[in-house]
Order: sequence, then structure tokens, then C-alpha cells
Amino acid sequence: MAEFTQQLQESMLPHIRGLDIYEGVEPVEVMAERAGIPPEKIIRLNGNENPYGPSPAVAKALSEFPNFNHYPDPEQRQLRQALSGYVGVDPERIIAGNGSDELIDMLFRMFIGPGDNIINLTPTFGMYSLGAEICGGQAVSVPRDTDFEIDLESVKLAITPRTKAIVVCSPNNPTGNMPTEAEVRALLDTGILVIVDEAYYEFSGQTLMPLLDEYANLVVLRTFSKWAGLAGLRIGLGAMHPDLARTMMSVKPPYNVNLAAETALIASLEDMPALLERVNAIVSERERMYGLLSAIPTVKPYPSRANFILCQLPEGSGRQVFEGLCNRGIFLRYWNNPRLKDCVRTSVGFPGENDAVAAALAELTIPLSLEGEG
Ligand SMILES: *Cc1c(COP(=O)(O)O)cnc(C)c1O
Repeated sequence: MAEFTQQLQESMLPHIRGLDIYEGVEPVEVMAERAGIPPEKIIRLNGNENPYGPSPAVAKALSEFPNFNHYPDPEQRQLRQALSGYVGVDPERIIAGNGSDELIDMLFRMFIGPGDNIINLTPTFGMYSLGAEICGGQAVSVPRDTDFEIDLESVKLAITPRTKAIVVCSPNNPTGNMPTEAEVRALLDTGILVIVDEAYYEFSGQTLMPLLDEYANLVVLRTFSKWAGLAGLRIGLGAMHPDLARTMMSVKPPYNVNLAAETALIASLEDMPALLERVNAIVSERERMYGLLSAIPTVKPYPSRANFILCQLPEGSGRQVFEGLCNRGIFLRYWNNPRLKDCVRTSVGFPGENDAVAAALAELTIPLSLEGEG
């Protein structure tokens, strides 16, 4: 193999050379192999995916779509129209993205350069800090309080002349709680761009979309990955001031949302009632699972408005419990960071899967507390 020379290495931007790789969710086959368990026995609850999968209308629409040889419409006319009906704001305010991850990336590239920063309300979704760092900027972390509520005073103190955006995840991944409207208004009143990531809106039923009329500095993000089960097809949307949307259209790769994703989206919107019934089933199951987890003396689940539950485990046990779960073929989300080192996040799956998670957490953590007593 030819050598990747020092000269090539050094011609790469320094802030890019130093980046960490985002730990995404791994394919089932990889997880199965690691646990030595057949793939069909794996319980995969680490990506907040929809256990029901997409609407059956999606496979049908994809199989019947005649024009995959064509490029998508770079102006996203049909797509923006359809999304406009779904979110209830004008099409000129909307841009569709290759997942909402792409919209975060585009927004940051529009606002953040070397030396700039965003305010990140940690713990929160990892793509915000990564996105800022890719632009050569920094994510200034303003930690949430013990109940993961936003510390508004500290946010205001953290703002500098180089602060370009405040990112608010609502409900917050991975903690599951939501900011109040008053809190987000206080952030908007700073005049800085406020990005409200509503990836889990359908599970919470609460949106700040109506504030778009009042605040030109508000961007609301949504995705079809979670509630509509389209994570693998990659489609999300941003709603914002029309002037910002117009500029963003010029930053957007012309064919960013592929025709399969667009076709799947339109089919999903036509099947909304059935999809929302599944959302309701997931929400009921979340409450049942919260009850199961609360009943385990060594586990403290945090109340959640999304399709996942963050669980506090006995002190010092986080990694060990996470690995014990992996060995049983149960994959949850774990973070190697000080605030979350004794937590795991479980997505809400099918009832049988959720029962298995609760049983395994009890088996793995109760002996630890007995050890402590002995
Ligand atoms: C899953 C998730 C996303 C990513 O959504 P995509 O549309 O799949 O890119 C964005 N924000 C949060 C908070 C998420 O949890």
C-alpha cells in the first residue's frame, strides 16, 4: 500500500485530524458475533429505533416507484409541501435533510468557524459537539442540574461574543425530560440562534413550532427516524425563518434527500393514523417499563417523554452492568463520561424485550448491593 505521507497528514486541517469518531449503533450481526448469540436472539435497544419498523405502505410504495433513475428535485418542491402539511408551517420555512443529522451539520457550517462556539446543555445528544468541532469551533458545555434541568443562569454566563448557537434537545436525549416553553423563550430572548431538536416530538406531544412566528432566531428540527421507523432511509426536516431557509437551500447538497426516502416519507404521511397508534403503544409501553424498572431497588429510572428511559445504576457499576447485558445479548447505550458512567439508556422495545431488560438489570445489580452490605 502507498504510504499516507507526513506531508499529506499535515496538510489536513488540525481540528479535523484531532476528531474523535462518533460511536453510532452497530449492525445486529456485529453485536451477535460479539455476544456469541444468534442475531435473531439479540435485543437491540441502543438506538431508540422503532420496534414496529416502517409502515407497510412504505415497502409497497418503494416497490412501485417508477423513477429511481431520476435525480430528486433540488428544490424539494413536493417534499417541502408534504412536510409543510405535517408540521403546519409554510413550505418556504422548511428544508428536508438526509436525517436531521445533516441539518445540524449544514446549520453549523453556516454559522460556525474556527474560534466560534455553541452552547451545549450536557448531558445531551453527541452530534452537537461533534458538529461544532468539525467546523473548527467548540462546544461549551453547560451542565444540567441533578434532575437534568437546564441551568439558565449558567447558560447566560457562558455566552461569549463568539457564541453562535444554543442547542436544546426536547425531549432531551439521553435524559428524557423536556425544557419548559418559558425556558426556551428565555434562551431565544438572548437573540442567539436557538436550535430546538424535537427528534422525539411524537412521543412527547409537545412542540415549540408555533414560536417560529415570534422568533426569527428559532430553528426546530424533526426526524422520521424514530416515530415513523425510517432511521435507515434518512429523512428529517428543519423549520425556520424563510430568509434562513433560503440561504440554507444554497448550502444544501442539491440531491441530499434521495427518492427512496422521499417516497417512504410520503407513504408514511398517508398512513399517519396507523403510525400514531404505534407511537401510542410505545408510549404506554414506556410507562409500563418505567414501572418495572422503578420496582427494582438498585435501579433508578428517570421519567421520560421520549421512546427511551435513562437508568441510574449502583455507584461504580455502570460499565460492568453494561457488559453483563451485552454478554446476554441485550444491547443498551452506555457512555464513558463522568456524569453518565453509572447510567444506561434503554430504548422502549416490544413488551417481551422490555421484560427481559428489567429482569437482567435486576439480576445484575441486586447482588452488587448485597455485596456492599456484607
Ligand atoms: C436520533 C436523533 C437524531 C438523529 O436523527 P436522524 O434524523 O436519524 O439523523 C437527532 N437528534 C436527536 C436528539 C436524536 O436522538
